[in-house]
Amino acid sequence: MTSSLSDVQSSFPKPATGESTQPPTPALTAAFDPGRFHDGAADIVSRLTTYLGDRSVRGLDLQHPETLLKAARELMTLERQGIADFDADRVNQIVDLYTETGIPVHSPGYMGRQFSGVVPLASLMDLVGSVVNQPSSFYEAGQLPNVAERLMAEELNRFIGWDRDRFAMVTTSGGSLANMTALLAARNRAFPQIWTAGADSTPGRPAIAVSEEAHYSVTRAAGVLGIGERQIIRLPVDRAGRIRPDLAAPVLDEAHRRGLRPFCLVASAGTTSMGAFDPLEELAALARRYGLWLHVDGAHGASLLLSDRHRHRLRGIEQADSLTWDAHKMLFMPAPCTLLFYRDKAAARGAFRQRASYVFDDEPDVYSAYDSADKNFECTKRPMIMPLWTVWSVYGPALFAQKIDRLCAVTRQAHEMVAAEPDFAVAHEPESNILCFRYRPDGLDPATVHRLQLEIRNRIRDGGRFFISKVDIDGTAALRVVVMNHLINADHLAMLITEIRDIGQRVLRASATARHDQRKGSHS
Ligand SMILES: *Cc1c(COP(=O)(O)O)cnc(C)c1O
Repeated sequence: MTSSLSDVQSSFPKPATGESTQPPTPALTAAFDPGRFHDGAADIVSRLTTYLGDRSVRGLDLQHPETLLKAARELMTLERQGIADFDADRVNQIVDLYTETGIPVHSPGYMGRQFSGVVPLASLMDLVGSVVNQPSSFYEAGQLPNVAERLMAEELNRFIGWDRDRFAMVTTSGGSLANMTALLAARNRAFPQIWTAGADSTPGRPAIAVSEEAHYSVTRAAGVLGIGERQIIRLPVDRAGRIRPDLAAPVLDEAHRRGLRPFCLVASAGTTSMGAFDPLEELAALARRYGLWLHVDGAHGASLLLSDRHRHRLRGIEQADSLTWDAHKMLFMPAPCTLLFYRDKAAARGAFRQRASYVFDDEPDVYSAYDSADKNFECTKRPMIMPLWTVWSVYGPALFAQKIDRLCAVTRQAHEMVAAEPDFAVAHEPESNILCFRYRPDGLDPATVHRLQLEIRNRIRDGGRFFISKVDIDGTAALRVVVMNHLINADHLAMLITEIRDIGQRVLRASATARHDQRKGSHS
């Protein structure tokens, strides 16, 4: 028996007030009008195309927050009663303000951070994701995203090399969350009782071993998980920033003597500061010897697996237990898009052990077997895989490999150029696309060198032509260049070197004059 909608309605009592039966106002309907999408899109797409087409060498236009606050506030409607009319002008001004105040990630002047200009197709797919709005933790809500995750996991695992029937992958909102999730899985494997009985249910204090160069998200996760910063075992690194396996064993022995119970060793495949790759093969052997879960933080550098030329940096990765891989770094996706891989899918499910009846079925069926919710912290999660899977599907893996090779080659060239300048000093040999160096003419004491780099970095930013970053290496600041743009060439590097020298000399001259004036002042 079927019944019509009006039959069903008439079988319910009428609401006491007439309110809920009012049709939506025309203004409400208009705001959701598909025509609005088309008209708005035409303007926005043409503005963004102009933005993308601007390849001039430029850095950040850093505005004072109060100035920007004022400009942004002026774009907010004052209408508080009815729904304000669509105002194309206002929308265009918001888009302009958004693009103008951003780091120009498509410009060759941008060499500062680890996110990058995005493959345009990926941006379009992100837009599709915002229209269809399919959060991806559950197959029911995001069918294609969940299938795409499966496919992308298989594709990338071919470069990792794990057993395809046993490994697992889950997307997370950023590498920091992936690192924390992996640590949680590792802790739950070693101390299964903590999840229900709490932290004081274990004999000895759970601890993790990390590189002195580990990303702050790793040590932060130790705080969040209740491991406590004091239970972080710091493994010494060599001058290039890589963990020294020979020094790690004594440090672990000493930790055991102190009553610590290390359960996880975190290695970096591309440290954030210098892009250094820890020796994974040796660390895997060490982890086996001490019964540790080996987590590889490859947020930055895992993508090198796609390059025949650079894959060797991750030799031994197949022996790891888990791997963090940021696609919004060296796979050039809109942020965030992170993939967390586990060698063993049972361990992946161990990260979050609880059950919630409203989402988790007791008996997984053919659909819920594709859910990722039992493996990620997020409930509602962006279908972040779609831009990556689409670009991969349309162009194939060579797009990524070629760009990665180019970025690493340009960084090597930058290294040669900087090393050839007598008043510059390189801090390391680049292993990927990150290069750290200092402008340091002879005769400066370490404190002056330190301050000089900070001053140069900020003045370069304020100059608005280049955007680079800084990092502390062995307690002294250094300039840091991250080559994320394949359009950067030797001319841009030469321009940057010249600008650094000009600024550096100006800063040194100004402080010499200041000292001179001070001395004169104290004599008179
Ligand atoms: C960038 C980075 C992270 C943090 O990842 P997010 O995606 O920014 O949260 C962690 N580890 C390393 C080595 C990184 O370079």
